[in-house]
Amino acid sequence: MSMLRVAALSSATVRRCSGQDFVMSDNLFERFRAGMSEPLRPFIRLPNGFVITYGDLIARSGQYANALLNLGVEPGDRVAVQAEKSAELILLYLGCLRAGAVYLPLNTAYTLAETEYFIGDAQPRVLVCAPRLLGGVLPLAQRLGVAHVVTLGTDSLGADGKGGSLAERADAQEATFFDVARGSEDLAAILYTSGTTGRSKGAMLTHGNLASNAYCLKASWRYTASDILLHALPLFHVHGLFVAVHITLAAGASMILLPAFDVDAIMEHLPAATVFMGVPTYYVRLLQHAQLNLASAAQMRLFVSGSAPLLVETHRDWLARTGHAILERYGMSETGINTSNPYGGERVPGTVGLPLSGVALRVVDLDSGAPVSQGTVGMLEVKGPNVFAGYWRMPDKTRAEFRDDGYFVTGDIGKFDERGFVHIVGRSKDLIVTGGYNVYPKEVEIELDLIPGVAESAVFGVAHPDFGEAVSAAVIRLAAATAHADFELTEAALLSRLRSRLAGYKCPKRVVFVDELPRNAMGKVMKNLLREQFANLYQVPT
Ligand code: AMP
Repeated sequence: MSMLRVAALSSATVRRCSGQDFVMSDNLFERFRAGMSEPLRPFIRLPNGFVITYGDLIARSGQYANALLNLGVEPGDRVAVQAEKSAELILLYLGCLRAGAVYLPLNTAYTLAETEYFIGDAQPRVLVCAPRLLGGVLPLAQRLGVAHVVTLGTDSLGADGKGGSLAERADAQEATFFDVARGSEDLAAILYTSGTTGRSKGAMLTHGNLASNAYCLKASWRYTASDILLHALPLFHVHGLFVAVHITLAAGASMILLPAFDVDAIMEHLPAATVFMGVPTYYVRLLQHAQLNLASAAQMRLFVSGSAPLLVETHRDWLARTGHAILERYGMSETGINTSNPYGGERVPGTVGLPLSGVALRVVDLDSGAPVSQGTVGMLEVKGPNVFAGYWRMPDKTRAEFRDDGYFVTGDIGKFDERGFVHIVGRSKDLIVTGGYNVYPKEVEIELDLIPGVAESAVFGVAHPDFGEAVSAAVIRLAAATAHADFELTEAALLSRLRSRLAGYKCPKRVVFVDELPRNAMGKVMKNLLREQFANLYQVPT
């Protein structure tokens, strides 16, 4: 190769393969190829024993990339995918990366109205859907100008010629595919935020964002090719798709892919795994399984929790039962993972750990935006190669959520403790202002959860004629604890206990008992729904 050509290729890496020079771009898939050198190594093991090797991965994702090209997909085109969790879905995702398309995962539980919003906003060239959804989404996708609507089943439902199965189209394609060169700033995916407050926004994630987070986590959590992840998370969210799948690919490891979260299936496959990742609800449910014990988790190396706060009690119960301290980490669609409890050092319950290497995190005053001292609660802001490129077609929202010096305003309220560990006390939109005082729901929830007989609680603000907003709590009683021998769990009893622990203005004005808390697919309590449900709690009768 001439010097001239090397210079022209600027920062791109040049590799020699089969006597031919070619450019390895910043396409994320190209980065992952480093872990794919052994074609017979398992990538995915299905519960029925079927194995998809790294060789299969390269061939099948190549077929998907060719199938997308045949549908006219060009680099930068969005490919929206609303399909059930499966190995094929992951291979399709990888095919999108290879084709330079922008992957847009959608929850199959969305209503047609929600799907219409996402499709209208993202304007994908192709929509891939579960066969059962085709009848509903086809007319709206056509109305919104989507060029191709295809299914991801082998049972192609689009017999009218409008749909058809992408999996079947892929079957007919060559496996060879030359990955489309991408720069680190090029978009790889759009993730719509969970929308627990307001309308979902499309977070634009670049190849560089995703690569930086994958390799940083691989190093932090000491991931190796010998790891086997038990994968029970959904694939339409940052946790199951990027954290779980990318770390596996970055390490050339493998995973047991479960179609959904199922306590019995997890207990069955746990002995064959080394790593498990879950949302807090998964751990709460698994703790209810009688066979969860030291022996069932003996070969495990790591349990990770995130996406919502893990109760200190859950952390402690898990440690007592399995001998493992759950590693809690904090992330979001816009940034991937920002902080993590240490792999090697102490994992502190109730904290989300330390900023990851390369990620700058600061706490600023909610009003002035000036950095606050250690121990003071404020807004968490992050900056780093993991931070997204902005909200899709929302330049004003993007501007509003970035500071001039490049920090992204997360919307999460928290603080640093004396060891430098980050504590999250809530979302800014959940902050309660009552009689002029700020109340952080988490602080009240922690005290409520310590009271015997309380299984779980959620604290939220409700309009109040005197205080503006009133601190209010929804509490789930422990099944067997409606009446403790020495303590009856009534609203009055709870409030009297809280008054001895918290300043008066932080104590709820009312406590309501509920059977369950409204949660989204990732286990986050939807406080907006609680605020709506109990909107009239303090209404003065007219
Ligand atoms: P999503 O974009 O759906 O992943 O939601 C991100 C939000 O989940 C963050 O902004 C936090 O509010 C919350 N979150 C994620 N991980 C944690 C955690 N470990 N503890 C508390 N909240 C968390």
